[in-house]
Parts: sequence; C-alpha cells; structure tokens
Amino acid sequence: MAKDYYKILGVEKNASQEEIKKAFRKKAHEFHPDKPTGDEAKFKEVNEAYQILGNEEKRKQFDQFGDAAFSGQGFGGTGMNWDDFRRQARQGGGGAQNVNFDFGDLGDIFGDIFGFGGSRRGASRAQHGADIQMTLNLEFKEAVFGVKKDIRVSRHVKCSHCHGNMAEPGTPIKTCGTCGGAGQVIQMRRTMLGQFQTASACPECGGEGKLVETKCSVCFGVGVVQDDSRLDVSIPAGVESGMTLRVPGQAHAGINGGQPGDIYLQLRVKKDLRFTRDGFDIFVEKNISMVQAALGSSIEVETLEEPIELKIPAGTQPDSKFRLKSKGVPKMNTGGRGEMYVVIKVEVPKRLSRKQKKILEEFDE
Ligand SMILES: [Zn+2]
Ligand SMILES: [Zn+2]
Repeated sequence: MAKDYYKILGVEKNASQEEIKKAFRKKAHEFHPDKPTGDEAKFKEVNEAYQILGNEEKRKQFDQFGDAAFSGQGFGGTGMNWDDFRRQARQGGGGAQNVNFDFGDLGDIFGDIFGFGGSRRGASRAQHGADIQMTLNLEFKEAVFGVKKDIRVSRHVKCSHCHGNMAEPGTPIKTCGTCGGAGQVIQMRRTMLGQFQTASACPECGGEGKLVETKCSVCFGVGVVQDDSRLDVSIPAGVESGMTLRVPGQAHAGINGGQPGDIYLQLRVKKDLRFTRDGFDIFVEKNISMVQAALGSSIEVETLEEPIELKIPAGTQPDSKFRLKSKGVPKMNTGGRGEMYVVIKVEVPKRLSRKQKKILEEFDE
C-alpha cells in the first residue's frame, strides 16, 4: 500500500526541511515506545517518513515516485546494528563511512530521545584531554629560518601522587560490582527497531568502572592536577603569520586513560622594515644615486643572511629589479628556497652646488 510520508508527519507537501524536522521531533517524542503515549508501530512509521523527507534527495525521489522508490530501504536495510547506530548518534551524524545511510540530524534527535546525546562520559570511561589554543609571536627571521621556542603552558597533567588512578596510594580500589568494571550498564529495550541493548553510565560508579575508597589527597580524586609546564617546540622554517601549528598530545592530560589533547599554536610574525615578504620571495629596496645608476656601480645589499655585493650595470633604470637566486625563504614542503629581489630606487639630488649644476647643464647639452 502506498504511504504518504507527508501525512504521517502531518506536514504540507511544500513544507520546509526545518518544518519537517520539527514535525518529526514532535511525533518521535510522542510515539516513542518508552513514553506513556508510545506507539511502536507509529514510531516506526514516523521514523521511516523522516528518513525520506528529511533528506532532500530522497524527498525529491519520493515526490516523483512515491514510496515505491524506497522498497527495501529504511533502517532495517542499512546493514547497521544498534551499536553502529548509537555510535553514529553520539557523533552527531558523521563517522562510519561504510554505512550508506544519511543520518543528518537524525542522530542528534535520537540522542535526545534516548538520552545519550549529551553524556559522552557515560558511554566511555576514558576522557580525552582538552585542546589548548595559544598565540605564538615570532620575529621575522625566526619565521623564515625556523626556531626552537620555549613556551609556557598551563595544563592538566597526570597526578604524580596517585598516578592518575584517583585513589590515595595504599588505599583499596574496588572494581564496581554493579557494572563489573565496564562503567556502563546494559539494558534491554524494546523499540520499533526490535529489541536492543542500550548502555548507560553505571549509577554506582558514575561510569568510572571502579570505586575509590579514599580519594587521592593531591588531586582530590580527579586524577589530574594543574601544572605550569615549559615546552620546547620546533617551529619549521618558512612559516607565516596566520598559520596554525599543531603540537600533538601536549595539551591537557586525559582522564582514566584518555588521550591527551593537542596544542594549537597560532603564529603571529613581526614585520621587518628592511624586508617585505611575499610567500617565499623577499623584496628589498635599495637607494642609489643617479650617477651610480648612469655609470654603474657596486653596492652592498642586505640579505636574510650575510650582506652581499651587487653589481649595478651602467644605465640602470629606476625600479629595476635584480634577482638574487635562492636568497628567499626556505620552502617547508618541497625544499629549496624562494628568491630575493632587489628593487632599485634612484635618488635625484634636491640641492646642487654651483659646480654640480654647471656639470649637469653641460651634460644636458
Ligand atoms: Zn559501575
Ligand atoms: Zn591524585
């Protein structure tokens, strides 16, 4: 029998995606089997309708072909099990790429209904340490050639008194009897999708899986303490203002065996009045007199390293550019270096002596 998904969700055919989502949320709550108003068959239907109408592509197909376009699909046809679904829901939709099913906001909604959206902690005892963002100021040449920097980080580190296990040394740590150390309790739930196991944080141990009799006197049972650490970080050559460098695993320590977070260094590079940088190329301006320009000359030019002698040929025009090969910025990925360009500025004298004037007038003739 042909189904009208619009009717099932109680929306108009021209409803916006937002309206469809809202309608689904409302109906899913209403019919959820755990609710007093629950109706498993209707819940299943509402879910099916949202899978189609909540996805613009599938909605178009449905508008064109009706539900015949989707026979064999739906939740049962995705090849997912409850664990995949829960994982997906916890991640807010992304993740599992082998699953040919677009969760979109669905995960979020189910998280809301089943109560595992917000509480990551309950499902996993290990807590990932938080990341830290910092700004790092660099001198112009430090960015060009790279530098080792000593940075200060205020972060959580594993408590050295209890070694992160949260108990005062010498006091017993018992495995939680309620969850057997898993940190989760499994419940069988009957839903429209059939019977499923759902896991929630163990009420006895709060998801830790263990019971500490006497909390560590240094970290008060948290397992980590605040620490002002100094860290050596290597800044590679060629970095620029605005870049972000990741220093993996050096931010806040994880809890209960969780991975530490990462430090993100946002680079701010000071300007240098002598050099202008454009990517890997460096531009430097050099003033010469009009006589030097006319007759040619040898001038000293500052580079990123040692100053060098640059020969200016006779008849050099204002704003001429001379290239100093591979005197620019080291290239991070490919090796090699950018170029340096010397831009010649010709100074015209503002005051001339009587003699100089005479010479120039003779020259002009
Ligand atoms: Zn427990
Ligand atoms: Zn401790």
